[in-house]
Amino acid sequence: MTLIDLHNLSKTYTGKNGENIYALVDVSLTIKKGEVIGIVGESGCGKSTLGRALLRLIEPSNGEIIFEGNDLIHMNKRKMKAARKDLQIIFQDPFGSLNPRHKVGTIIGEPLVVHKVGNRQSQKQRVLELLELVGLPSDAGKSYPHEFSGGQRQRIAIARALALEPKLLVADEAVSALDVSVQSQIINLIADLRKKLNLSILFISHDLSVIRHVSDRVGVMYLGRIVEIGATEDIMNSPQHPYTQALLTAIPHVGKKRQQRIVLEGELPDPAHPPTGCAFHSRCSKVMDICRTKRPELAHQNGAPSTQSEVACHLY
Ligand code: SF4
Repeated sequence: MTLIDLHNLSKTYTGKNGENIYALVDVSLTIKKGEVIGIVGESGCGKSTLGRALLRLIEPSNGEIIFEGNDLIHMNKRKMKAARKDLQIIFQDPFGSLNPRHKVGTIIGEPLVVHKVGNRQSQKQRVLELLELVGLPSDAGKSYPHEFSGGQRQRIAIARALALEPKLLVADEAVSALDVSVQSQIINLIADLRKKLNLSILFISHDLSVIRHVSDRVGVMYLGRIVEIGATEDIMNSPQHPYTQALLTAIPHVGKKRQQRIVLEGELPDPAHPPTGCAFHSRCSKVMDICRTKRPELAHQNGAPSTQSEVACHLY
C-alpha cells in the first residue's frame, strides 16, 4: 500500500546574482507502507533537499506530495501540524539537534507535550517505553545529552522521532558522523524498528555501503534528479547507470566479483548552470554525441534487471 507519492517535486533557490539554483528537479517517487528507500549520491546532489522538501521543512517550488490521499503542499497550518505527527526526521548531528539544557526525558517527551498527547503520567510512561525501544537504560531520561556517546545520542534522537508513532521517518545522513562500529549498531537498530513498527523510511546517505544494509529499494541522485532506481539487490548486482556503476566500484568487495574502480573525474556541476543534455555527460566515460544535447528520461528499459528498475541513460 502506498504511503506517500511524490510527483515532480522540485526546489529552486535564487542565488546572490538572481540566478536560479536547481537543487531538486522533478523527483517522482512512491514510498510504500513499511518500505525503506535509500537515497544515495554525492554531497550536493539534492538528497537532503529531497528529504526536507518531502516534510515541508523547506517549501517545494513545484510538485505534489500526496500523503494518504492528501496533498501536503496545499494543507493549511492546522492540518499540516496534524500530519507532522506522522512524518519525522533524524539528522546527521544528534548533538546539534538535542537541546543541551534539557534532560533526555524532557527531550524525548517534548513531541508528546507539543501535540498534547496524553497526560503527564502517560507521557512519562511513553518515554520509558521509548528508551527501552532504542536500547537505552531506563534511567537515561534523568541525564543530559552531553553525558552520552555519539551513538547513544543518535538513539535519543531516534526515540524522540518515534514518540508520536510516525508512519514515515526521514533519516538524513543519520549514521555518517558515527564510528564504523557504532554505525552498524544504529543501522541494526533502524532495521529492527522498521520491522517492529512497520515504519516507512527514506534513508539518505552518501555511502552506498550503508544504504544497502537497510533499504528495499535504492534511488541514485545526480544534480537534483533521480538517475536510477531499483530493488537494492538489482542496484548492487546489476547497476545500469554509469554513475551508479562508479559509486559501486568505490565500495570494496561488493557483488560476486570485485570490479576495477571507476574513478569519477571532476566535480558535480554547478546546479545554477546544469549541463545541457545528460547532466552526467561531462564525467561519463561512455558519453555519446546525443548525451550532450538530449536529456535522458528516467524510465524502465528493456533488459533491466526487474520491472521495478528505472534508469535515465541513452545507453539503453
Ligand atoms: Fe553517460 Fe550518456 Fe548515459 Fe549520460 S546518457 S550516463 S552521458 S551514456
